[in-house]
Amino acid sequence: MLIDGHGRKVNYLRISLTERCNFRCQYCMPEKPFSWVPKENLLSFEELFKFVKAAIDMGIEKIRLTGGEPTLRKDLDKFIKMIYDYKPDIDLAMTTNGYLLADIAQDLKNAGLKRINISLDSLRPERARIIAGKDVLERVLAGIEAARQAGLKVKINMVPLKGLNDDEIVDILEFGKERGMQVRFIEYMENVHAYSALKGMHGKEILERIKEKYEIQKIGRQGSSPAFLYRLKNEEYVFGLIDPHKHDFCESCNRIRLTAEGYLIPCLYFDEAMSIKDAVQAGDIDKAVDILKTVLANKPKENRWSEEKNEASSRAFYETGG
Ligand code: SAM
Ligand code: SF4
Repeated sequence: MLIDGHGRKVNYLRISLTERCNFRCQYCMPEKPFSWVPKENLLSFEELFKFVKAAIDMGIEKIRLTGGEPTLRKDLDKFIKMIYDYKPDIDLAMTTNGYLLADIAQDLKNAGLKRINISLDSLRPERARIIAGKDVLERVLAGIEAARQAGLKVKINMVPLKGLNDDEIVDILEFGKERGMQVRFIEYMENVHAYSALKGMHGKEILERIKEKYEIQKIGRQGSSPAFLYRLKNEEYVFGLIDPHKHDFCESCNRIRLTAEGYLIPCLYFDEAMSIKDAVQAGDIDKAVDILKTVLANKPKENRWSEEKNEASSRAFYETGG
């Protein structure tokens, strides 16, 4: 079992498969970064898998593939199958913008992917274009439909932004409700890479918008999930709110992040990170596991997104995987 320096059980590994992306979301990557990590610096799927096996043996029970845009990596289904074949009961999930999903959703499901979170910030084509930097909506909706048809469990991620899509909170909620997909509203997290004029919405403000139409009941955080769950009164439908600005957000943190270049990151905000790349490429998995233990021992108690401190992260979401 993996335990961090604050006694928290860590059983969730998020792997960013690439920092590259085919979108330029205003809150994440409004401009193409000055330089991309050269492809040869990325860990190959074979190298990643060596580490994944060791991490599973140490107690990792849940893996999420993210990015950048994970569907840009060739042979993604083969990597998923490698993990699935090693541990079929692993909770294997992915977060994607959905743009390339329609053609591959069934292959990913067949390979062993169980769950998928798809980002959807607007149901209006022109708005979706403004937020993502290109005309994306039709393909994203096709991707969502294909994922459902393939039998994947689908959740929808929305980042509400003042003056951009804040009037669509209920629309997106109902889009999810009608299709039996949980919507998770994510508070905008300030970071230096985002478009500087953006104004996020506080969790309370997001809930206020929903309460204008629905009565809601608190359920709470379930296990170590970052989402606080709510139910629409007199209905079965449950939605989530991810509110990292809230003081209790980090108490049950169970996750560790691995970047495409092989850096293990203990927390989204903190800049500390250690690379397992040399160890993995040299075939020294014991050393990679030692590095994992060191990173966990130094995992910070909490992030720094408190309102009082009002700090913006220098970490790029497209690098850490959000
Ligand atoms: N490209 C994929 C996607 O967009 O779903 C996966 C990577 S993306 C970094 C993962 C999640 O982080 C997405 O749901 C995205 O909306 C969210 N995200 C990115 N930047 C964010 C920010 N500044 N604040 C809150 N959420 C953010
Ligand atoms: Fe790309 Fe996802 Fe970042 Fe949007 S949020 S720019 S889709 S990595």
